Amino acid sequence: MTFKELNIIEPILKALDEKGYSNPTPIQEQSIQPALDKCDILGLAQTGTGKTAAFSLPIIQNLYLDRTNEKKRVIKALILTPTRELAIQIDECLVDYTRYTGIRHCVIYGGVKQNAQVNGLKAGADILVATPGRLFDLMNQKIVSLNAVRYFVLDEADRMLDMGFIHDIKRLLPILPKEKQTLFFSATMPPAIATLSRS
Ligand code: AMP
Repeated sequence: MTFKELNIIEPILKALDEKGYSNPTPIQEQSIQPALDKCDILGLAQTGTGKTAAFSLPIIQNLYLDRTNEKKRVIKALILTPTRELAIQIDECLVDYTRYTGIRHCVIYGGVKQNAQVNGLKAGADILVATPGRLFDLMNQKIVSLNAVRYFVLDEADRMLDMGFIHDIKRLLPILPKEKQTLFFSATMPPAIATLSRS
């Protein structure tokens, strides 16, 4: 199986080629096509399996195919992840994967001053990578709006649970637009996460 056979488009194939990815990993092979078809996905995958590309490539591709001449980019995809390290790691992957698409992204996380992140948001982004605390903080300050979100990724859901973020996620779900694709990834499926995934 190749990325081309998974119907990945040329500007992304070029970036993957430069990264030296010759073939999709198993989680990518299973999830890319249904994700391109805008199906919701529940993926059981650990870090190191290639899940970042599994959820981000289809989103980048669909954003690219549906792009319009927006004056200022609004956030259309939200990737929620539990830790600052993971958020930075995902954002770094997006730098590579979006290189030839013109799709813009930014990252917000706690533990640092918000100014640089706010400037990034004000410049406009299609994809926002966020940890829950900073996301709510900037939403409360009306700096982040999620009204236009059409793609929602919940990454490492079981770790979110362990870190006490489950209430934040439950609070976030009704705020997000109803019409959206949800890509839900977890390494394990404890009962609380199974219930959350059903909801
Ligand atoms: P992740 O599970 O998303 O953290 O990815 C783990 C590592 O695998 C990262 O260093 C990625 O750059 C790399 N990776 C992801 N997809 C592929 C692929 N198809 N071929 C080779 N390496 C990959």
